[in-house]
Amino acid sequence: MAERILVTGGAGFIGSHVAEGYLAAGHDVLVLDDLSSGRRENVPAGAGWVGADVRDAAAVEAAFRSFRPTVVNHHAAQKSVTASVREPVLDADVNVLGLLNLLQASVAHGVRRFVFASTGGALYGSGAPVPVAEDFPPAPDAPYGLSKLAGEQYLGLYGRLHGLESVILRYANVYGPRQDPYGEAGVVAIFCGAVLRGKSCVIFGDGRQTRDYVHVADAVASNLLALEGPPGAYNIGTGVETSVNRLVEELRRVHGGPVAVEHAAPRPGEVRRVALDVTLARERLGWAPRIPVAEGLAQTYAWFREHLGRERAGERAGEPAVAPAASVPATAVAAAAGPAYATATRPGDRPDRPAPPGGGARRVRKAVVPAAGMGTRFLPATKAQPKEMLPLVDTPVIQLVVEEALAAGVEGVLLVTGRNKRAIEDHFDRAPELEYLLAQKGDLAALEAVRRLPGDGVIHYVRQREPRGLGHAVLAGRHYVGEEPFCVLLADEVFEGPAMGAVLEAYDRVGATVLGVKRVPPEETSRYGMVAVEGEGPLYRVTDLVEKPEPGTAPSDLAIVGRYALAAEIFGALERTPPGRGGEIQLTDGLRLLLAEGHPIYGLELPHRRFDVGERLGFVVATLARALERPDLRDGLARWLETEGRRLLEQS
Ligand code: NAD
Repeated sequence: MAERILVTGGAGFIGSHVAEGYLAAGHDVLVLDDLSSGRRENVPAGAGWVGADVRDAAAVEAAFRSFRPTVVNHHAAQKSVTASVREPVLDADVNVLGLLNLLQASVAHGVRRFVFASTGGALYGSGAPVPVAEDFPPAPDAPYGLSKLAGEQYLGLYGRLHGLESVILRYANVYGPRQDPYGEAGVVAIFCGAVLRGKSCVIFGDGRQTRDYVHVADAVASNLLALEGPPGAYNIGTGVETSVNRLVEELRRVHGGPVAVEHAAPRPGEVRRVALDVTLARERLGWAPRIPVAEGLAQTYAWFREHLGRERAGERAGEPAVAPAASVPATAVAAAAGPAYATATRPGDRPDRPAPPGGGARRVRKAVVPAAGMGTRFLPATKAQPKEMLPLVDTPVIQLVVEEALAAGVEGVLLVTGRNKRAIEDHFDRAPELEYLLAQKGDLAALEAVRRLPGDGVIHYVRQREPRGLGHAVLAGRHYVGEEPFCVLLADEVFEGPAMGAVLEAYDRVGATVLGVKRVPPEETSRYGMVAVEGEGPLYRVTDLVEKPEPGTAPSDLAIVGRYALAAEIFGALERTPPGRGGEIQLTDGLRLLLAEGHPIYGLELPHRRFDVGERLGFVVATLARALERPDLRDGLARWLETEGRRLLEQS
C-alpha cells in the first residue's frame, strides 16, 4: 500500500537517501527540514518540501494538516556528539522537544507508524560489549546519546498511551555518497575528501580503534522494511569492526596511489571498539547489510571523486577546496551509489561517470567484453548456460565485470557473445512479471537487486559467429567502438577493487595503450601473454610482448591480465595480424605489431587481488572470498570453515 510519509531531515545525508528510497517504492513523500546542515538540492524531485524547524509547533502542525501523513520518518536532529557536550540545552531542544512536537501532531492526526533514526554508536556507552545487542542497557557517554535515548523512551510511552507504533533504527556509522566531508564525524567522507584534495588523513591516536560502518543504501533498506516490520528498536550495522587504519588501507587500494596520513593526539574519552549485533533486525525485520566495507568505500570514493572534482572546477581562491558534497543533484547521487541502492533509478539509467583526476572528461567511453567462449572447463554446468552467467555467491560474473566497467566511467559496454549466450541478454533485460511478484511480496531487497541492473542504452551486443581468438573477439567490437580509444575486460577475471578504473586513469595520463599487468610465478608464464618492460613501476614502458612463453623463456615475470585500455589503432593492427596458435587471432600478437609500428604501450602493475574465474579452483576461491566479504554470510561461513571445513580437510 502506498503510504504518505513525512521525512524530517530529508535534505540531509541519510534522510535524503531515505526519501528517495520511499519514492522509488511508490510512496508519497513530504520533506520537512530547516536546512541547518542539509541542502535544498538534496531533496529528491518528486518529494514535497516544507522549510521548517521541527521545534516550530505551528509549522509542524500545518504540515501535518495539509499532507496528512500515515507514517512519520524522523531523521532531523542535532547530530554532533561534541556540540551536544558544548550545548546540551540546544541538543535536548532539537532532539527531545522537536521530537515531542512531531509525536503530538502524529497522535492528533492519526499517524499509523513512527520511524525514528536513533544511534547505536552513542547509545550503549563505553562499557558495552562488542558486538552489542539491543538488550544491553544503554548508558550514553554524551548528551547526544542521552537525547536519543530520551526520544526512544518517549516513543515507548506514546505507544503505551496512544497506541502509536514505532520502529527505532539504531544506526552504526552510516557512510556513503553525499555525506559531509567537512563534518566532525563521517570519517569515510572526511578521508575521501582529504585524499581528493591532496591533504593528509588525520588519525586520532594509533588508528586501531574500530567502528561498524554501514552503507547508506543498507540503511535505506532498513527504513523500507520499518514500514511494515514488527515495532521495536533495532541495531542497524554490519557486526563487523573496521579499524581506522584498515579504512586508510582500503582507501589506498581504491585511490591506486599513496595516501598521506597524520597522527594526532587521541581524542579523550573516545570509545575504543564499536560493533552492533544485528541479529534482531535480521530475524524480525528480514533486513541484512549487503554491502561490504571494501565495496562501499570504493563506491563512495568514486562518488566523491566525481563530485568533488566537479566542484573543484568552480572553486575560487581563498575558499575551502570544496563546498559540502550535499550540493549535488539528488538524482546523480542516487545513481552513483551503485549496487543494492533503493532509488528511483531504473534499468538503463546511468551512474554519472567518474571523472579522471583533476577534472576533464574520461577519454575512454566504451568497453568491449568478449563473452563468446565455450566454457568447457565447467561442463556439464555450461552445457546449456553461458559460463559468464555462473555466479559468485548470487551475482553472475558477467554482471560484476560490467559493473566494474561502468564504475570505471565508461558510458557503454559491448558484449561479444555467441551461440548459447542468450541468458546473458535476458539477465540484463527487464523482468516485469518477476518485478511485479517481488513488489507484491514486499521483497524490496530482491526487487532492487533485479532493478538496478544496467540495461537499455548501456549494454550492447554483437554475436561472434565462430570463436577465433581474443583478437578476433575484439575486432568484432570495431563497428561499435569506431575510431576512439576503448577498453577491454575479460570476463574470466575478477578483481578485488577497481582494476579497470586504475588502467583508465593511467590511459588518461599517458594517452596511449595501457595493459593491466601482474607478476606471476615462473611456472605459470605459459598461460599468459608476458611483457618485457623498462622504467620505474607501477607504470612501465613495454618493450616487447610474448604470447604464452614456456617457463624459463619469459622476458619478465609480468603477465598481461584481463584489463586493457587500447588505442583505436589496435583494430588495424589486428586486421593485419595473421592467425597464430590454433588458427586464432591473438590480441597479444596485434599489440606486438602495434609496438613494432612505433605506437607506445605501457603496462600498469595492478595492486588489486585477481581471481581467475575461468578455472575451477580460481572460481571456488573467488566464491569463498566474496562470501567472506559479505556481512550476511561471513560469520556462518567462517564458522563452517573452522569446524566442518577443517574436519573434511583432515579426513581427505
Ligand atoms: P545530516 O546533518 O546530514 O541530516 C540531518 C538533517 O536534519 C539536515 O538536513 C538538517 O538540516 C536537518 N535538521 C537539523 N535540525 C533540524 C531542525 N531543528 N528542524 C528541521 N530540520 C533539522 O545528518 P545525518 O548523518 O544524515 O543524520 C540523520 C539522522 O541519523 C540524525 O538523526 C542522526 O542523529 C542519525 N544518525 C546518523 C548516523 C551517521 O552515521 N550519520 C549515525 C547514527 C545516527
